[in-house]
Amino acid sequence: MEKKNIDWANLGFGYVQTDKRFVTNYKDGAWDEGGLISDATVTITECAGVLQYAQTCFEGMKAYTTEDGHIVTFRPDLNAERMENSCKRLEMPVYPQDKFIDAVVQTVAANEAYVPPYGSGATLYVRPYMFGSDAVIGVKPSSEYQFRVFTTPVGPYFKGGVKPLTIRVCDYDRAAPHGTGHIKAGLNYAMSLYAIMDAHRQGYDENMYLDAATRTKVEETGGANFLFVTKDNKVVTPKSNSILPSITRRSLLVVAKEYLGLEVEEREVFFDEVKDFAECGLCGTAAVISPVGKIVDHGKEICLPSGMSEMGPTTKKLYDTLTGIQMGRIEAPKGWIKVIK
Ligand SMILES: *Cc1c(COP(=O)(O)O)cnc(C)c1O
Repeated sequence: MEKKNIDWANLGFGYVQTDKRFVTNYKDGAWDEGGLISDATVTITECAGVLQYAQTCFEGMKAYTTEDGHIVTFRPDLNAERMENSCKRLEMPVYPQDKFIDAVVQTVAANEAYVPPYGSGATLYVRPYMFGSDAVIGVKPSSEYQFRVFTTPVGPYFKGGVKPLTIRVCDYDRAAPHGTGHIKAGLNYAMSLYAIMDAHRQGYDENMYLDAATRTKVEETGGANFLFVTKDNKVVTPKSNSILPSITRRSLLVVAKEYLGLEVEEREVFFDEVKDFAECGLCGTAAVISPVGKIVDHGKEICLPSGMSEMGPTTKKLYDTLTGIQMGRIEAPKGWIKVIK
């Protein structure tokens, strides 16, 4: 397979159209067989449920080339399970988990020429998503849906080296206590756009959201979970019903415990404790972990001891171990790596 002539190392995180995408439609209570198509456009009625009432959810994962030349994805079963939970919460039909994984595999395999080579730092981002596709004007769930999977090559996250982030405690809320913060719904992002642009305008990289009810506990950022390291080297991550269960974060906890022998705690984390932590990172598929160097709470600065020029030592070990597992340099726990080719 001849790879596309792409400057992998200098790719950004933007949409690059690839050759094939998977599409299946839900109608009269059933999914059709589905398959790969070449047309990258979606044609739907002007009154589609997704356009009027935002009935849509998505997943995000990566395919990449391992050291020994295989094309793989990381824990797609957890994406399939999470998408099922998102669909149920949005009154959307579930696309069966085994078929979800099969659709991902088919789409990646069909776009093999866009899977970046090992060592380039680039990956093929995979975006499964579903939306209500038939006309809905009175507020109710759609009766027809489309499930699609497309891919787009994305560049190395830490281009030009790791740069710890400066984040701020945000006065806007991301998710209500019994709302939709725990599912991967587009609506959670639409309402966070103002807050993130406002953060950027004020010179911050990201927002730290606190729990909406008491504003005392750490939740997450707009698109990544927090991971903290205590001064005695415990790994702590916030537990809450209104944060998105990050697959990266859940995997890092296993790595911390099983590979690095560290104590891990998943529990409520009060903002008052943050000043005492040694390291802080943001976990998600895009970066695996992005280190946080500084947290600003209405003018009051918390400077993490790990500083503004590199990852903290434990964050670095977690990062190196998980990326080593993903790239096939370190043996993975059973079932974590799905080989596509
Ligand atoms: C997708 C997402 C994450 C990261 O989850 P991963 O499975 O690790 O990619 C974290 N927070 C939010 C709000 C998300 O949408």
